[in-house]
Amino acid sequence: MKKCPYCNQKISFFGTLFGGIDHTKCNSDAAKHKSFLRKYLKSEVMLGKFNKIAPNEFAEAQKYLSGTLEAEKSMAAGFDDAVEEMCDDISLDDEELQKIEQFMSDFGTRFPEPKPGEPSTQDYLSNMLGIYGSFTTLGQARMLHELQKGILPEKQPPSGLMLNKNETFIYSWDSVRCSILNVKTRFRGRSTGGSYRIAKNFTIRHTEHRGEPVAYSEWKDVGSGILSVTNKHLIFLGDKRDVKERFSNISSLDPTNDGFIVNLSLKTRPAVRFTMSSSSRDAWFASNVILKAPSV
Ligand SMILES: [Zn+2]
Repeated sequence: MKKCPYCNQKISFFGTLFGGIDHTKCNSDAAKHKSFLRKYLKSEVMLGKFNKIAPNEFAEAQKYLSGTLEAEKSMAAGFDDAVEEMCDDISLDDEELQKIEQFMSDFGTRFPEPKPGEPSTQDYLSNMLGIYGSFTTLGQARMLHELQKGILPEKQPPSGLMLNKNETFIYSWDSVRCSILNVKTRFRGRSTGGSYRIAKNFTIRHTEHRGEPVAYSEWKDVGSGILSVTNKHLIFLGDKRDVKERFSNISSLDPTNDGFIVNLSLKTRPAVRFTMSSSSRDAWFASNVILKAPSV
């Protein structure tokens, strides 16, 4: 028989129908505690601290949710909310980075010293707070911040990538699908409401990547592979064929929900579309790297 994780009493298969215990209040109390933890964590991260004397609600929520992983998940969600807000102007500056570090260090003091053989508090916190990919996003936002200052990410070019003289490799992504617009249909309208001129000083927000999916029918799939960006080209090394586009032929970039479209000033190929296999935040990162690439 299933038990309620909050009051530890039976949950009847039939609910309250045959006199089973009503757990409506258990669930609504849990929801209240979870929402408190999420909001509280977010506000502390944004302030760059963790109050040693947290409000009573914090301890109450932890106690109520103990026996489940819900407290940890709610805190990770709050942490991620803060990360998303900090990174929405794309770059994680020194002040924001310091806030994260100070929060982590304050928060870490709430956990007991690990016993021998147990993971360090730092590893434990990274696992616990990172379930929504926040640390990946922080790393990406930091790379964008440095790229803006002319510092290249430390990334090895994929094998087989040929560069011209004076061409600088910047970054690459694995498992990207490439499709080319069927010339007869021509791409009309924008995917998610944004279109960005390449090499102008624009930034694309996370929210720009959350629009409607683009219909695939007009696009001819040319395979899956590694997409590299240099200061001169976008280079796709695919399993079926390669695609190489010069930035001087790329007029703009449109974010989609799962990647981006580059519009070309060529009659034969009006647009090329790249779809990332990973999260929309990876698409956000890639689009922003590409916008900056020609000015590196
Ligand atoms: Zn209950």
